Amino acid sequence: MAASAAALALVAGACGTGAGAGADDLAKLNVVTTVSPLTSIVAGVAGDLAEVRGLIPEGADSHTFEPPPSAARALARADVVFVNGLKLEDPTKDLAKGNLRKGAEVVELGGRTITPQQYLYDFSFPRAEGKPNPHLWTNPPYARQYARVVRDVLARRDPAHAGGYIANYEAFGATVDELDRAMAAASATVPRRQLLTYHDAYAYFAEHYGWTVIGAVQVSSFEEPTPREVAALIRQVREVGVPAIFGSEVFPSKVLAQIGTEAGVRYVDTLRDDDLPGRPGEPDHSWLGLMKFDFVTMVESLGGDATALKSVRAAPAGPDQAVYPQ
Ligand SMILES: [Zn+2]
Repeated sequence: MAASAAALALVAGACGTGAGAGADDLAKLNVVTTVSPLTSIVAGVAGDLAEVRGLIPEGADSHTFEPPPSAARALARADVVFVNGLKLEDPTKDLAKGNLRKGAEVVELGGRTITPQQYLYDFSFPRAEGKPNPHLWTNPPYARQYARVVRDVLARRDPAHAGGYIANYEAFGATVDELDRAMAAASATVPRRQLLTYHDAYAYFAEHYGWTVIGAVQVSSFEEPTPREVAALIRQVREVGVPAIFGSEVFPSKVLAQIGTEAGVRYVDTLRDDDLPGRPGEPDHSWLGLMKFDFVTMVESLGGDATALKSVRAAPAGPDQAVYPQ
């Protein structure tokens, strides 16, 4: 009862702001998101028209993240909560649903981007366990669709600023398209488009650009593979003949380093799936910066030419003002 009374007071306060200096800020939509790539995509569409706050700290394992009590308070103030879905951040989604104030909503971007028939299941996300691979944002056209959903939801919730959301989306979408064309061009220069990664974050990327994910060392239980599995991976890397294998900056892997040494290939341990490069406010601290970093790293480590990718520039708005917990 106390919570709903507080929510009513908040609503009454928001209604009472009226017009005048400062009212615009007070009336801004309060938007909460989860992992940082989503926060960046949402912030790109929101611009300075809405307050955007991510909940999952960068560098945390988003797959096992349990939201702290402070997250409940942020969620209780939100007008809209954007989550990825596909079971990536269920504890946060459940907490949101339990704490939403009247009229607020939770929007699952993944579920509004692809159908269950398009879900991919693989090494770390086997179908038997019922959790699809949730990393849709590593595929640029899917990231664009995320932004389109965000545009529609924000414009519906805040029609006075619909024109701004639409313009921000158009600018973001143009950048995504440029990145997509550049990655297609760069992909074509890679002799063997085969990925062995630690964290299995590139399934939808691989499907889109015609790459093959030959394995992911991190098994579905998020434990280390068995010696037999390691031996099989070493054999596979030798057979495929790739010059490099990839680890994640968030999940250091001795096993992958060992596979690299024994197969005689380079172990590149800097890929990221939801930890943006740089610090908040820096130019590369964005979804685009993340994708460019990963794509350039993959292409160059596998002997391709990443020139096209390096020339992709962010939309002119610059770094966003969203809150990214560290
Ligand atoms: Zn991940």
